[in-house]
Amino acid sequence: MHILDHFARSDGPTLSFEFFPAKTDEARGKLHDVIDELAAANPAFVSLTYGAGGSTRDATRALVKHVRENTALDPVPHFTCVNHREEDIDTILRDYAALGVGNLLALRGDAPRDRPDHDHGLDFCRHASDLVRHIRRFNADGTHPDPRGFGIGVAGFPEGHPATPNRLLEIDHLKAKVDAGADYICTQLFFDNRDFHDFVERCDLAGIRVPILAGLLPITSLASMRRMAELAGGARVPAKLLRDLLAAEDDPKAVYEIGIQHASEQTAELLASGVAGIHYYTLNQAGATREILGNVGWRV
Ligand SMILES: Cc1cc2nc3c(=O)[nH]c(=O)nc-3n(C[C@H](O)[C@H](O)[C@H](O)COP(=O)(O)OP(=O)(O)OC[C@H]3O[C@@H](n4cnc5c(N)ncnc54)[C@H](O)[C@@H]3O)c2cc1C
Repeated sequence: MHILDHFARSDGPTLSFEFFPAKTDEARGKLHDVIDELAAANPAFVSLTYGAGGSTRDATRALVKHVRENTALDPVPHFTCVNHREEDIDTILRDYAALGVGNLLALRGDAPRDRPDHDHGLDFCRHASDLVRHIRRFNADGTHPDPRGFGIGVAGFPEGHPATPNRLLEIDHLKAKVDAGADYICTQLFFDNRDFHDFVERCDLAGIRVPILAGLLPITSLASMRRMAELAGGARVPAKLLRDLLAAEDDPKAVYEIGIQHASEQTAELLASGVAGIHYYTLNQAGATREILGNVGWRV
């Protein structure tokens, strides 16, 4: 099923969760339990990350296969095109089509860690918009069991992508991804809803008309906040939230409760404002997300 079909069928915002492939057998077992636990909230889809430069290619595929074969959930594999040749991309597309995967999140990705000076200009797809265009071409060749081929999502950055010097051009680049054939946008995490609402308005001004899913990360510890702020390209933690978190620095339980409270308030405000969907970065944990959904009385 295409994500667009979920939007069409749903009479309210869609719910979705992100997971990353586990590295050990033990972590894998725990992740499968977490996925089962969160499946009870009936998400429209679960998205599964792909390591930079294809570093988790096999692990992402295995997780996609697990979700397809052992749950009723719709898996959306992330697909970064950095460091991939045309034949690599087509092999992966054919494989996902054969597995019956209905949607992909099309991304450029960042340079592999061991090659920070990677020249994106040498990649078959330089930008995510090139990958979207390539998937659309693939869709037209009839390989996919769904005659429409893959549904396609792309990434958006409410606070701006860290490598983009020009915020006006950035929205043009986002529009290029939509014009190339993206069905929906999923945003990077943000902690201040005003950034999201402003982003949605700027998309509207640029003529972007696809659904925009708000990406939320529950802060559960100061360590995870610092790690994610770095990974997510410098996500801004508003002063009030930061002050509260730092004041509770010596009390991990209090930090957790402040984080859950903040994400619950973000969720409630987004739901009230008519958001198209909310996407939770679960960090492979079920508890925090379930608590937030419970706090706002949504899908529990
Ligand atoms: C929801 C979400 C999920 C993610 N999942 C993963 C994951 O699983 N694995 C992973 O490795 N990373 C992931 N990322 C991170 C992402 O890959 C990086 O942020 C990457 O740097 C940008 O990818 P993109 O698809 O936005 O690229 P693009 O849209 O190609 O943009 C990359 C940069 O190029 C610029 N640009 C785009 N088009 C043009 C153009 N025509 N001319 C000039 N400049 C242009 C953009 O402004 C931006 O600065 C995710 C991000 C989000 C928001």
